[in-house]
Amino acid sequence: MKILLSNDDGYQAPGIQALYEALCEVAEVEVVAPEHNNSAKSNALTLHSPLYVHRAANGFRYVNGTPADCVHIALTGLLGYVPDLVVSGINNGANMGDDTIYSGTVGAAMEGYLFGVPAIAFSQTEKGWHHLDVAARKARELVTYLAPSVAAHAQASNSGQHGPWLLNVNMPCLPEAEMRSYKVARLGRRHAAEPVITQVSPRGETMYWIGAAGPAKDDAEGTDFHATHQGYVSITPLQIDLTDHGRLAYWAQSMAQLSGREGTFR
Ligand code: MN
Repeated sequence: MKILLSNDDGYQAPGIQALYEALCEVAEVEVVAPEHNNSAKSNALTLHSPLYVHRAANGFRYVNGTPADCVHIALTGLLGYVPDLVVSGINNGANMGDDTIYSGTVGAAMEGYLFGVPAIAFSQTEKGWHHLDVAARKARELVTYLAPSVAAHAQASNSGQHGPWLLNVNMPCLPEAEMRSYKVARLGRRHAAEPVITQVSPRGETMYWIGAAGPAKDDAEGTDFHATHQGYVSITPLQIDLTDHGRLAYWAQSMAQLSGREGTFR
């Protein structure tokens, strides 16, 4: 199994180092990751400045771009082959509920998924890398378990059959004895983010700092928040169709009158 590994915290982050070492025991792993912290960059691509790829002493390649840039250039020419699996992480902090919209960790995995490669985003639910070794072993266990599915997808995609999958995985920061098994869960929801933080710069201008993510609003049973609070590793299969299917009919009816008008705009 050939794995492309990326992240959003940067190639020197402990999370990608630990995941690389764990995955190397079960797969051929190549790292292409951002040079600097690119958390909350979602699926952003760099279009108006050039990207450079350098190789670190440990063999990791790093890019002066976003997580999606890294996976994009890896899959469109840098690697020279199609990996069987794109893995992202382990992120420093949760990517649950609405976090997934902003997450660069998810963005890197999603870029693989968009190119037809099965992909997994791994995050620890708390910042600070506590019990990172446990999380890395848990990630390896899951990747190893999914290897047959990855191989089946590679075969099927060669014959033009079914599409790839995208998993969002959040791991509680617990010692091995307290870490429970896996729970497949839907995304919960968060409250709106904390208020913006203002400070005065040394030059007398007001500086605005984006506030922290809000606390959980929907953490009911069946959500990623609930599962990880209970000590489980949450696994959410993601899709990227943002269409509000439930309101298609409402909007079609609402817009019918306007759509029926001919001629001049009003
Ligand atoms: Mn991050």
